[in-house]
Amino acid sequence: MESTERNITDQFGRVHDYLRISLTERCNLRCFYCMPEEGIQLRPRSEFMTNEEVVAMAKIFVSLGVKKIRLTGGEPLVRNDAKEIIKELSQLPVEIAITTNGILVDKFIDNFISSGLKSVNVSLDSLQREKLNKITRRDYFDTILSNIHLLIKNNFHVKLNAVIIRDVNDNEIIDFIEFTKDNNVHFRFIEFMPFDGNKWDWSKGLSYKEILDMVKLNYRNNFSRIEDKKNDTSKNFRVNGYKGTFAIISSVTNPFCDRCNRIRLTSDGKIKNCLFSDSETDLLSVMRRGEDIVPIIQETVWHKKLMRGGMNTLVDLGKQKNRSMVAIGG
Ligand code: SAM
Ligand code: SF4
Repeated sequence: MESTERNITDQFGRVHDYLRISLTERCNLRCFYCMPEEGIQLRPRSEFMTNEEVVAMAKIFVSLGVKKIRLTGGEPLVRNDAKEIIKELSQLPVEIAITTNGILVDKFIDNFISSGLKSVNVSLDSLQREKLNKITRRDYFDTILSNIHLLIKNNFHVKLNAVIIRDVNDNEIIDFIEFTKDNNVHFRFIEFMPFDGNKWDWSKGLSYKEILDMVKLNYRNNFSRIEDKKNDTSKNFRVNGYKGTFAIISSVTNPFCDRCNRIRLTSDGKIKNCLFSDSETDLLSVMRRGEDIVPIIQETVWHKKLMRGGMNTLVDLGKQKNRSMVAIGG
């Protein structure tokens, strides 16, 4: 391993400066593509990172060159001490962002503002009440929509995430884009990915090409590609004259692994060097024994595979063993 002491680089030269921390495996929704129908087995609190441990882990990653931390889950805002964690992390020299289902945003907005958190991603898989309830297996349509508008009103950088699934919400792609006409949001269409318990089958997914063909059919030449930013996972577009933008995230048909700078830390303190990787490395037990976790982080990332955790084909993807998304941290 040739990584220098104060950074996190893999064997292919990719520098990892973006950490996604899952705060919990619990969630107040039950999205069918993420959470198995039967839910997930609850485990004792002692198996998960305390707020002090989350902050201690974050500090170590920051000392290794991490410049951005995204909090995710499960639903990160169901954690009782989420406000304290956000406040503490905001003292570090990093950009803090969060991915949430939006339900508790109104309870947190003051905390976000006072912590300087500017970027909020919210899942929104349908603009239709009945359909959203069916997808999430809960009834929070009004709360989610009103909280999205609250974020917009308060000038947050808002990204909306929709996992596009055939015969579920593929007929709303144009409605999602129309939502960007008067709302300054970035609507992202995500290809359906396989995780344990989500009954993945690629015939249910819509590819980048299929989504883009629908957009072309509707908007013809009236939309354009926006230049990618460094480490962008999405291909970004804007309909001419619209306030917001939209994007396609093609993790299945056109992965962006060559520019990957991400590391994932699960809520039980395991590091995953790729969302699709079937292996994980325990940091929390090592930290609790008072030992140095830095060499373990560097070693784990060094061995990251070139593409999708080694899942090179759709067949590999369908067969992989992984946690449920809710237990990884999307
Ligand atoms: N609860 C928060 C939320 O829903 O935004 C954060 C956690 S959630 C696991 C993070 C992201 O993962 C969401 O945008 C969700 O749509 C995405 N996701 C979950 N399962 C997925 C799947 N099977 N394929 C693609 N994206 C998925
Ligand atoms: Fe919960 Fe987010 Fe998964 Fe939906 S996508 S079940 S909101 S963690």
